[in-house]
Amino acid sequence: MKAAVLKQLKAPLVIEEVPVPQFGSKDVLLKVKQCGICVTDIHIANGDRPVGELPFIMGHEGVGIVEEVGNEVTQFINGDRVLMSPLVSCGMCRNCSVARDNLCDHRWLIGISPGMQGVYAQYGVIPERNLFKLPEEISFTDGVLITSGLASSFHGARRANFKASETACIYGLGALGKLLVLVLKAFGASLIIGVGRRAKSLKAVENLGLDFVINSSDLDPVEQIKKITGGKGVDVGFEAAGDHEAILQAIASTRAGGRTCTLGVPFYHVTMDFKDDLGFFHEICEKEATIYNSWGYLRQEFPMMVKMVKKGLIDFSPCRTKIIPIEEVNEGIRLSQEGDYTRIIIGF
Ligand SMILES: [Zn+2]
Ligand SMILES: [Zn+2]
Repeated sequence: MKAAVLKQLKAPLVIEEVPVPQFGSKDVLLKVKQCGICVTDIHIANGDRPVGELPFIMGHEGVGIVEEVGNEVTQFINGDRVLMSPLVSCGMCRNCSVARDNLCDHRWLIGISPGMQGVYAQYGVIPERNLFKLPEEISFTDGVLITSGLASSFHGARRANFKASETACIYGLGALGKLLVLVLKAFGASLIIGVGRRAKSLKAVENLGLDFVINSSDLDPVEQIKKITGGKGVDVGFEAAGDHEAILQAIASTRAGGRTCTLGVPFYHVTMDFKDDLGFFHEICEKEATIYNSWGYLRQEFPMMVKMVKKGLIDFSPCRTKIIPIEEVNEGIRLSQEGDYTRIIIGF
């Protein structure tokens, strides 16, 4: 089968023929139809996120058709349309037992964890437990958007207990921030303020239905958010930028008694040194700030998202996607860093 293989860090992926992988009794052999290029992949290829020995096949946003099933597989048959969750959990440990499988003691990630080959390839091996049926009404492309992008935003909104009629701001308008806008709209937000600083990202959110968009390179976003909300701040401040300044600004933009939720993952050393700014820490205490961190997504959230997308409650039509053949994967990786598209997707 054809695959895009990471042979050397910071070097282009190599397209080559590799054997179709072997699958176990509880696995499904997935015929990959589409796979998204996620920002995590770029961090892997750059060496920011170690994947152990090379060569390695990245790709954790796969959708496709069941080609073959292991002899203990009970939920799928050949020909089923499916999407994958990359997060493999044991189902047995303390966190798995209380539906927090994103924090499983034995967690690993397909296409991300060392040795766990992903689906930048024509076929991939996925445990049955990590697949979900994709109804005919949902396109493969929308399925890709669900897999890790929407899933992360969806989990963040649930983690922050976001409720109908609440107000929100989102720091960071890359793919994660954009998909979070769709989730908050579906959850019944009464006001969504977006904050970004890259001109291209700001241009790309024009049709998303944000109530206000603030360019933080021109204006102080905290001041602007206070102004919009009558001096109070929003109910929930989200950070989707993976940036230390945005985390502090999201906290400062949240009303007294409100919640802040961080979704971004900083790939550099972050210091949250409140000692230098006693005024800020005092503000956190005085407003009884609740700060959540959102990490990945839960298994139980996939059927929820599928139902909401199928019903049209989450509508991906404002998201720009581009499908490229696997031979153009390196160009796709380059394009996905430019901010014009919610996802560049490898299609087979
Ligand atoms: Zn577990
Ligand atoms: Zn991802």
